[in-house]
Amino acid sequence: MTKYLVPNMCERVVRDASVVLSARSYLREGIGDGIFQKIARDIAITSIFEGTQLLQLSLITSQLTHLARAGRRDETVDVGLLSDLATPARSWNPSTTRVRVADPGGDELVERWFGQSAFALDLLASEPRAVAAVQSLRREAKALQLALATNALPGDLSLARQYCILHAAASCLQIWHTNRGRLSPESAGGEWLTLCLERLATMACCESPSPSWGGDGMGGDLGNRVFTWMLGQLERGELFSLMPLELAQ
Ligand SMILES: Cc1cc2nc3c(=O)[nH]c(=O)nc-3n(C[C@H](O)[C@H](O)[C@H](O)COP(=O)(O)OP(=O)(O)OC[C@H]3O[C@@H](n4cnc5c(N)ncnc54)[C@H](O)[C@@H]3O)c2cc1C
Repeated sequence: MTKYLVPNMCERVVRDASVVLSARSYLREGIGDGIFQKIARDIAITSIFEGTQLLQLSLITSQLTHLARAGRRDETVDVGLLSDLATPARSWNPSTTRVRVADPGGDELVERWFGQSAFALDLLASEPRAVAAVQSLRREAKALQLALATNALPGDLSLARQYCILHAAASCLQIWHTNRGRLSPESAGGEWLTLCLERLATMACCESPSPSWGGDGMGGDLGNRVFTWMLGQLERGELFSLMPLELAQ
């Protein structure tokens, strides 16, 4: 899912940035020594190598009924621990070492946030835009469950794409939920979370922003706050990250 969604989002961001940069995005010399041209070219390979986007979606499609099933067959996953940014990842110790491409279990993250007994929304109550986006994502999750249950699968790869979006949104929610106590005030406040959820909800339901979410296309005041935070990181020579990230020397 990450291999499909991240390159896809990066390509979108670069495409959108090229609209703003206009001719500057096209020139290979002069402006910023043509670095944008190099970024645009380099980004394009990420959705091709190590399995093209279509291949990723095709693989996910073949596993959708497993992924959408609640719980796992053979072990319980502690999603809190899994998403705890202060705890090193557990060593990989699967119950079977048999080589397999597909995961026969469910998806705890999507189930937790968008499943039947979905996690409480009161966590986000202070941010109505986040609540609206989560509600929209839950509607999409319900529609997807229904399509899988009734076997009303379209011939294209749209359900797999939809699932990737839901998983990304559930990951954002879980990362924020588990780590907000130790994040900097800018990350813990969750403005980034609201913007991510709104963007993902927009991708899931339609391609143009929904006015019912109350924000404008640029993220309004929330967008400004996140922009100021990101600009501060850039000016201090830091990478954009929820937690401080040490740069390689
Ligand atoms: C700069 C660069 C570096 C690379 N480095 C490496 C490397 O280090 N190691 C390595 O192993 N490879 C490497 N590759 C190769 C890369 O992994 C392949 O190009 C990539 O996997 C796509 O394969 P292909 O180009 O043969 O396209 P094809 O497999 O011919 O695919 C053509 C089209 O058909 C679609 N398609 C194919 N099969 C399916 C399917 N089952 N379902 C749905 N759609 C399908 C594809 O999505 C694509 O749109 C590199 C490529 C480049 C350009």
